[in-house]
Amino acid sequence: MPARARLVASFLVVPLLALVPAATTTHPSASRTAVEETAAVTPGVRVLAVSIDGLNPTALTRLGRTALPHFWRLLDEGATTLNARTQYELTKTLPNHTSMVTGRRIARRAGGHGVRWNYERGAATVQKAAGEPVHSVFSVVRRAGGSSALFSTKGKFRLFKRSWPAGVDRIFVREQDDLAVTKAAAADLVARRRAFTFVHLGLADQAGHAHGFMSPAYLRAVDRADALLGRLLRAIGRKVGGVVVLTADHGGLGPSHFQVAQLGDYRIPFVVWGPGVQHGDLYAMNPTYANPRRTRPRPVGRQPVRNGDLPNLVTDLLGLGPVPGSQFNVRQRLRVLAD
Ligand SMILES: [Zn+2]
Repeated sequence: MPARARLVASFLVVPLLALVPAATTTHPSASRTAVEETAAVTPGVRVLAVSIDGLNPTALTRLGRTALPHFWRLLDEGATTLNARTQYELTKTLPNHTSMVTGRRIARRAGGHGVRWNYERGAATVQKAAGEPVHSVFSVVRRAGGSSALFSTKGKFRLFKRSWPAGVDRIFVREQDDLAVTKAAAADLVARRRAFTFVHLGLADQAGHAHGFMSPAYLRAVDRADALLGRLLRAIGRKVGGVVVLTADHGGLGPSHFQVAQLGDYRIPFVVWGPGVQHGDLYAMNPTYANPRRTRPRPVGRQPVRNGDLPNLVTDLLGLGPVPGSQFNVRQRLRVLAD
């Protein structure tokens, strides 16, 4: 039973499944799907993606359940790994978030999105960076008749509104103000019936740069992020009843997170939680993926769970086909739903 059908069943909604052509390759950097998307967003399904900028998963185990009740609720109830991977090429915020919405790797010559910079560049678009049309989870949801919103604590995320102006129905940016961003997102989750909401919280990354990643100040920021996550969970639980996907753009250890070959920088959490989602280890549920242990696999061959799996997990949960041109989770084989 495909994921979307199982999710629909879990919502007790009559399945209205359009047939979506599957991509034909497992090679994550070889695909160029030209999918003609005809499906509509599955009624009653919502997905909230939460990216905690610079979240080293060791912080979650170090602080534990008492300090982080909301993170641990997801870990204890959801489909979970604390051993997912960033993009191979760079452990920086904007390049990784661009992968998290396009499903592409970074390297342009390998079919990636080409966004290597990490600051707000006024006129830039992902399409200009890639040198070709680039689709995203936002544009796929839009084409299927759904609505998306993006909430971020960093101005450089405006790149996504410029790149998919119709796809990102609402963008809310408040620099370094995680509380304002969380409040706006929570209010929007309650008031609006969007298919997809992306929330980016930057406070842990900010504390990491100022005081060191995994420092006491950084851990205090992760603790504050837990309270903000709690607000989002209350908002989605009260009115929406959707699925939550929580991950990160990169980790961080010591003064920064820019060393692509350092475990503390390339290891991130990836957690899926919500109605119909089974509890357990994501790698145990997904034998087509390979737990990388402490290594940093190249983006070819059998893959670890990556932040770049996110967009095609979201489209799958919403009953839609993969993002055209995407390279990760192209066949939407990352399974999270209970049978
Ligand atoms: Zn950073």
